[in-house]
Amino acid sequence: MKRVIILGATGSVGVQALQVVAASRNLTVVGLSCDRNVKLLVEQAASLGVDDLAIADEAAAAGVPASLYPAARIRTGAGGAARLVREVEADLVLNAIVGFAGLESTVAALEAGRPVALANKESLVCAGELVNGLAARQGLGILPVDSEHSALFQLVAAAGHDAVDSLVITASGGPFRARTREELGAVTREQALAHPTWSMGEKITIDSATLMNKGLEVIEAHHLFGLPYDRIEVVVHPQSLVHALVRLVDGALLSHLGCPDMRVPIAFALHYPERVQVSTRRLDLAAGVSLDFAAPDEATFPAIGLARQAGMKGDRCTCALNAANEVAVRAFLDGRLGFLGIPGVVEAVIAGNAGGSFGTYEEVAAVDHAARLMAERVCAEIGAR
Ligand code: NDP
Repeated sequence: MKRVIILGATGSVGVQALQVVAASRNLTVVGLSCDRNVKLLVEQAASLGVDDLAIADEAAAAGVPASLYPAARIRTGAGGAARLVREVEADLVLNAIVGFAGLESTVAALEAGRPVALANKESLVCAGELVNGLAARQGLGILPVDSEHSALFQLVAAAGHDAVDSLVITASGGPFRARTREELGAVTREQALAHPTWSMGEKITIDSATLMNKGLEVIEAHHLFGLPYDRIEVVVHPQSLVHALVRLVDGALLSHLGCPDMRVPIAFALHYPERVQVSTRRLDLAAGVSLDFAAPDEATFPAIGLARQAGMKGDRCTCALNAANEVAVRAFLDGRLGFLGIPGVVEAVIAGNAGGSFGTYEEVAAVDHAARLMAERVCAEIGAR
């Protein structure tokens, strides 16, 4: 039995991970966490018999009556998930927390010698060098959960690292593909939340609409596969059937295809190195499948270029980019910032941030904090215009 801790268990990835666990005879859950959705967390814990929990939101945690789940040992507050990971013996930690809040747990898991299956791409975006250094010192791998990176992981392993010329990440293009900049000025929260192919949490859905999700994924791929930014391509592929490709040194392309279903990369990461049956829709090639590819419109959607710029400066700048994006996405969802303001805020914040690397988690947290303050100021200026 592989003992797994699932952080962010109440979210889109977390819930699907629990479906993967339910379909498996080899996985057992030993810890669960959420931010404030305590009702669902307690239901999950009670049905699986999991006693070790973490709830980030103190007020939500205070609302859980002890009688509801008497056996539970609940760690509360922002550092609760990281304490859970340190204190509970596990063979794998699936980190499906959204945003910068997930980084502390990635660091805690690696420090405690626990391998990580990483959905929380922000861990690598904010502190890729630090996280990789820690994983290398501990002799641990990081298993990507993001569908594109899971595909790349398999393709690079099949080809051999030295045979890879470049990585190709596909992007659905989001709900606003082919829109003009003028049209984007007026899009609403509801339109931006209606993703054409994937059903995901709010933050990543907005990131998909701005294409910042692809920007974050380029940075994530740089850290996972050790390739420079000019060897990581992005191509728009609206059908989301090809998850990624690798170009090999001899000019051949290897690709990874399948119907979009996050349970496939989640099952891959949770069971790795085993490969198991997943009851998902099979891609019926004989029924006729169209595969379209196009270059992303980086003039209308500047996020990928901003991510590359920040990535070339280093972790301090990508950390600031992530903080600015989180603040701007929140402001957009709250109606304080227009859609085009999101890349606007990110651009202003990364322009004011130097690059360089981090020595400790505390340094990362300080840069994140300062960038958030700066982003809030820019949001107020842009939003008011
Ligand atoms: P969701 O918003 O659906 O879920 C986020 C989870 O994190 C919830 O359990 C939430 O708890 C918890 N959480 C939120 N804020 C905090 C916090 N401050 N501290 C601790 N826990 C917190 O997100 P997704 O599942 O969509 O995404 C999770 C991660 O996976 C992201 O990094 C995303 O980029 C990545 N990812 C997601 C994919 C998807 O298909 N959804 C695909 C590929 C990557 P609560 O429910 O209580 O709010």
